[in-house]
Amino acid sequence: MSAIARTLRPALRRSLTVMTRASASSSPRVQNTVRTFNAPQQLRCLSSTPRRLMDISDIPPTPIMHLSETEAAMQEAVQKFANDVILPKVRDMDEAEAMDPTLVEQLFEQGIMGVEIPEEYGGAGMNFTSAIVGIEELARVDPSVSVMVDVHNTLVNTAIIRWGSTDIKKRFLPKLATNTVGSFCLSEPVSGSDAFALATKAVKTADGYKISGSKMWITNSMEADFFIVFANLDPSKGYKGISAFIVEKDAKGFSIAKKEKKLGIKASSTCVINFDDVEIPHDNLLGKEGEGYKYAIGILNEGRIGIAAQMTGLALGAFENAVKYVWNDRKQFGQLVGEFQGMQHQIAQCYVEIAAARALVYNAARKKEAGQDFVKDAAMAKLYASQVAGKVSGLAIEWMGGMGFVREGLAEKFWRDSKIGAIYEGTSNIQLNTIAKLLQKEYTS
Ligand SMILES: Cc1cc2nc3c(=O)[nH]c(=O)nc-3n(C[C@H](O)[C@H](O)[C@H](O)COP(=O)(O)OP(=O)(O)OC[C@H]3O[C@@H](n4cnc5c(N)ncnc54)[C@H](O)[C@@H]3O)c2cc1C
Repeated sequence: MSAIARTLRPALRRSLTVMTRASASSSPRVQNTVRTFNAPQQLRCLSSTPRRLMDISDIPPTPIMHLSETEAAMQEAVQKFANDVILPKVRDMDEAEAMDPTLVEQLFEQGIMGVEIPEEYGGAGMNFTSAIVGIEELARVDPSVSVMVDVHNTLVNTAIIRWGSTDIKKRFLPKLATNTVGSFCLSEPVSGSDAFALATKAVKTADGYKISGSKMWITNSMEADFFIVFANLDPSKGYKGISAFIVEKDAKGFSIAKKEKKLGIKASSTCVINFDDVEIPHDNLLGKEGEGYKYAIGILNEGRIGIAAQMTGLALGAFENAVKYVWNDRKQFGQLVGEFQGMQHQIAQCYVEIAAARALVYNAARKKEAGQDFVKDAAMAKLYASQVAGKVSGLAIEWMGGMGFVREGLAEKFWRDSKIGAIYEGTSNIQLNTIAKLLQKEYTS
């Protein structure tokens, strides 16, 4: 059993005990906790993502950042792991532009790679917000590790949990929970924002499908053995011909063509992948033929909340790294830079903006879990969190002076890493397009 699952299961059991006693409780907080996370029907909320609309009208309101007992345990466990195990490796991994393989193994051992995978398949069986909490805590220390975990959990695992056949779930979820990294292959050289213009093709064969084409910008591809690949099975139908397939790394014709050298999140691998007549069995079709575009839209809407959490974690990490320096270390040298009023105001302003971004992230996550429409919320969270991450990490360098600019510490890395927030899983312009389109719909009579 993984370390995080071990940490959390007692908490879960305690929650259940509280639940049985709770009907007598008059405390709104307890009632809310119980109703939201611990009532029997809500246990589904702690395993794979619930799809049905929950009636939350009678739940007393609580602060948006309030975490359930299991989510708080997740936060504590990941925070400790990030500080004890990841932090000492961050600078070296960035310089080497590679993820430490031992760390990947440890992420599996900790259970962080199978947050929402049901326990019957070896996962932690927790809810979406727990994954968000974990992604945020990891980014506070290393946004590269955070995106590895984010893509694996919110895109790959979720797609298999939601659309995989029983056979696919049995074959792959235990591996994805314990030892196999996953990648999500949608983008191509000519189809990024316009993802459904993709040119990768699939054709039916006697035994299954044959895939040919190239994917670009694929996160986790150096570490992954498992790839969800979007390819067009019937180009005459346009994007409605797109289907999702499972390809394993050892498939004949699969190759990594190029590893990108990047500005930021350098330890996270990003590669071009070639599919040269890769043959896969029938059983590796994910969901239904021609529904791939729907799956991609749905999963990316959710995935954006993960990237938004990566960005709020990054902003918080950059902020804390800098203020600890200006208010502690620098002070010991006798220079009270952190007490200049201009800087104090910037620090206060940045903290407010981080708090606002986090509220957007957690609100979007809760709405998704409640089965409510969260698309605009997810777009707002990703847009704003990436803006805040860029602003805070940039100012943090200035607060630290020269010490922010050198590669001894992590300030300059946080800033470089922040740039990706405005690009992947839908650029900032694409988020603005989504928000504007939904607002127009809402306000057009
Ligand atoms: C490090 C990294 C990791 C990635 N990981 C993955 C992954 O794991 N899987 C995957 O499938 N993809 C991945 N991507 C791809 C990523 O999602 C795309 O880069 C992104 O969607 C943008 O596409 P593009 O690079 O082709 O830019 P373009 O789409 O060419 O955009 C260029 C500019 O034009 C603007 N623009 C484009 N269209 C519009 C429009 N309609 N309205 C307004 N402005 C517009 C954009 O906002 C942007 O400013 C990754 C990318 C990077 C850099």
